Amino acid sequence: MPHVVTDKCSGCKFTDCVEVCPVACFYELENQVVIHPEDCIDCMACVDVCPVHAIYAEADLPPEFTKDVEFNAVQSRQLKDSGAHVKGWLQDQILEHLAYANEHGADTRDIQDWKWTP
Ligand code: SF4
Ligand code: SF4
Repeated sequence: MPHVVTDKCSGCKFTDCVEVCPVACFYELENQVVIHPEDCIDCMACVDVCPVHAIYAEADLPPEFTKDVEFNAVQSRQLKDSGAHVKGWLQDQILEHLAYANEHGADTRDIQDWKWTP
């Protein structure tokens, strides 16, 4: 059973959970994050870094959050299928390379001109 983000996550700006996930199965919505149920490997790394304890193993989910199981599944599958995750990942990679290049005094004009075209 996967882990589930509950609506306690709403409005959080500390996405440490996303950073620590070894399989990158978090997806970001406008106001919260969700976990892809087929990709989560139940490692629990995200649970302790969440400041509001918004993440539960599905088996331990308090009844008031049962609705979040479907919400996580539907939203994350939709975003994954749309390629949003790959796009975000790619942009992160480019920003990381750009920061490294700047730090080492490289010519970054080509990289800075780069635009994502779906
Ligand atoms: S740390 Fe917790 S509250 Fe913040 S984005 Fe992650 S799951 Fe949501
Ligand atoms: S339990 Fe592990 S695999 Fe699942 S969302 Fe949390 S960090 Fe990612």
